[in-house]
Amino acid sequence: MMTIDNYKFAGKKAIVRVDFNVPLDENGKITDDTRIRGALPTLKKILADGGALIIMSHMGKPKGKVNPKFSLGQIVDAVSEKLGVPVKFAPDCAKAADAAAALKPGEVLLLENLRFYPEEEGKPVGIDKEDPGYEAAKKAMKESQKEFAKTLASYADCYVNDAFGTAHRKHASTAVIADYFDADNKMLGYLMEKEVQAVDNVLSNIKRPFTAIMGGSKVSTKIGIIENLMDKVDNLILCGGMTYTFAKAQGGKIGNSICEDDKLDLALDIIAKAKAKGVNLVLGSDCVAADAFSNDANTQIVPANDIPEGWEGLDAGPETQKAFAEAIKGAKTILWNGPAGVFEFDNFTAGSRAIAEAIAEATKNGAFSLIGGGDSVACINKFGMADQVSYISTGGGALLEAIEGKILPGIAAIKG
Ligand code: AMP
Repeated sequence: MMTIDNYKFAGKKAIVRVDFNVPLDENGKITDDTRIRGALPTLKKILADGGALIIMSHMGKPKGKVNPKFSLGQIVDAVSEKLGVPVKFAPDCAKAADAAAALKPGEVLLLENLRFYPEEEGKPVGIDKEDPGYEAAKKAMKESQKEFAKTLASYADCYVNDAFGTAHRKHASTAVIADYFDADNKMLGYLMEKEVQAVDNVLSNIKRPFTAIMGGSKVSTKIGIIENLMDKVDNLILCGGMTYTFAKAQGGKIGNSICEDDKLDLALDIIAKAKAKGVNLVLGSDCVAADAFSNDANTQIVPANDIPEGWEGLDAGPETQKAFAEAIKGAKTILWNGPAGVFEFDNFTAGSRAIAEAIAEATKNGAFSLIGGGDSVACINKFGMADQVSYISTGGGALLEAIEGKILPGIAAIKG
């Protein structure tokens, strides 16, 4: 497989798919530039080698229509400043052939938001799934998606995919475009390579013990990943809002705590599977219960399966925090996805903080720790501990799908 280190970019034009879907404030100012910074090593390497850059990305969900709110024109100056070279802008990504042809080595062209065209996502617009013409519209859209991808491909000599955040999507710019380049002219960027390596460390190169921590609000959105991990981990911590679905399933009283009543059997099934597979399943024994969903609510520590009426569990209790730390501290491989409590409220961060601290300590002792999925990343950043873990993934859905064991279309399109 061609790699970014082996490819000779000198005199070539590279079209690079990045994830510049950065959050903007009401004045169009970037509020978090992590994603831009993530792509810089790849972009700078191509420029330093004497290549020209055509950068493409999506921003937001414009649903196939031009919408100035989601224009990448708003970030041209920021990208230019970070790359240290002027960045030209193509206001229509599908009509940029002349601008691309005029690029000289070392020059950069940023294309307008790919999702201003419905072809990028390849979903038919203005027709319902139930409508009789839907299948025909879908087929027609797949054809125009190929044309759109071919147009993008025609701008460049080689294709680089460095957008891990969208690698789980089979979109024109993330996967279909790769069909228009031969194997020697398409490759993953540095960020993608790092993400793939990090996932590989927790799926294939596992050093034991392996502890996975799954939190967040619901068990239903994490079930695929929990089931896949069950075959791999030694310790599985389930925390956050999903705790109460497990407590209720086992006959506990959970007051007003968040609960998925239609997932009680699923919770019992997970408990049984963990037992059968010899996985040490760690569930909260106590919790911080609050009398309202608010940072200023009154609180008390109660058993997670005996929460008084009118109260709800919003964080892991002290006994639980200790149990979590125990299961994390000796681990050599750690995966964390999802907070242990409503960490957005400062008074309910203790459970997540205990996890973050135990991970930091294990990492110091040689563990590989991967943190991924928006909220746990927000958590670790809130605690200022981002530099104390091995790797923080830039992918939310993409990371979860990769860990579920699914083949990501963006990676398959290049690796074959
Ligand atoms: P998810 O999107 O499923 O990963 O869940 C993340 C969200 O779960 C965060 O916004 C947390 O505030 C929320 N969360 C964590 N613990 C609880 C809890 N005990 N009750 C309600 N929400 C929770």
